[in-house]
Amino acid sequence: MAQPTELTSHGPTKAEVDLTAFRDNVDVFKTIAENSGSQLMAVVKTNAYGHGVVPIGHAAIEAGADRLGVTTVEEGALLRKHGISVPIHVLSSITPAQVADAVRYDLTLSVSSRALAEAIHAAAVSQAKTAPVHLKLDTGLHRFGIAPEHAREFCRSCYHFTGLYWEGIYTHFSSADEGDWETTEKQFTLFMNIVMELNECGYNFPIRHAGASTIAMEREDMHLDMIRPGIALFGYTPEVRQQDRLPLKPVMTLKSKILHVRTIPPATPVGYGGNYVTSGYEKLAVVPVGHGDGYKRALSNKGEVLVHGKRAAIAGEISLDQMIINVTPIGDVREGDDVILMGSQGGDTITARDIADKVDSIVDEVLASLMERVNRVYK
Ligand SMILES: *Cc1c(COP(=O)(O)O)cnc(C)c1O
Repeated sequence: MAQPTELTSHGPTKAEVDLTAFRDNVDVFKTIAENSGSQLMAVVKTNAYGHGVVPIGHAAIEAGADRLGVTTVEEGALLRKHGISVPIHVLSSITPAQVADAVRYDLTLSVSSRALAEAIHAAAVSQAKTAPVHLKLDTGLHRFGIAPEHAREFCRSCYHFTGLYWEGIYTHFSSADEGDWETTEKQFTLFMNIVMELNECGYNFPIRHAGASTIAMEREDMHLDMIRPGIALFGYTPEVRQQDRLPLKPVMTLKSKILHVRTIPPATPVGYGGNYVTSGYEKLAVVPVGHGDGYKRALSNKGEVLVHGKRAAIAGEISLDQMIINVTPIGDVREGDDVILMGSQGGDTITARDIADKVDSIVDEVLASLMERVNRVYK
């Protein structure tokens, strides 16, 4: 049998990514960075919060980002394979087994243990390279990082490694998004004190950084030499209180089409478990989106979508690949009509935050959960 050719069409479910909106958001943060004399690292981890790391990485650099931040060696290597040459930071710790690849792809690594510093040094020496590294200090998140009381001893034992270039030092706040300034200021002061103490001992780190989206937006006094916004570049602030501070635009629209429409008689159970029961004759439509696409199952009997610019409620349990919506109040709905799961239609909008609020989550999770199989379309 002959090898089949490429598909000529795709399913109707797609995530439209507005690269112009994304570049505009990056530009807002580039201006903020310039105003405080800092560099801009665009954090594009987790497949660019679900938007696609390669196109987003290129767009971030076009719009003025100085560096990119990811959390896995795989994403860093993928960006390099697609021709990105600016510094790419791995903002997570990695295992010793990943170190040789990370050095080969010239990734800037975070160091939070002596074992990792030794492994990076060894890999760099064997590849005749000097690996740029940033020392991660734990000031209270208690995830990764050298403890403050061990920082000096750590530098005494590792700073001189010839395979390493200590380009930077950084920390990550635990409670800035929540606006807990007392905790955040304590962490910042602790960070600055350690940096000063290390400087006095001759351990210098040219790029000091601490702030993600929240700090970039709200605390210019903590920008230091670089800011690291992530979620805000995609048009959503971490918290509602920050919503009107900057003219940010949501970058993603999630849409599909109606596959099937039926009228179901009164008092009929619909969907798995039959926990939705029609109240009268209801016009129900099938949409080919399910929790297998990363659309949260917790939206079952709770979520809404837009059809003809009006809200239609999700009826029954969302399954892996489909869900059913009630289009009774909308009128003349037909197979092939557009369904907006996230985005605008008519005068109405459903945001990632609306979805997050309904399922007690955060916008990061709603966006980043979107699976690979959802076709990303860039405009
Ligand atoms: C995710 C992350 C960021 C970006 O955080 P946002 O709140 O999305 O802006 C910055 N720095 C580190 C270390 C991170 O892990």
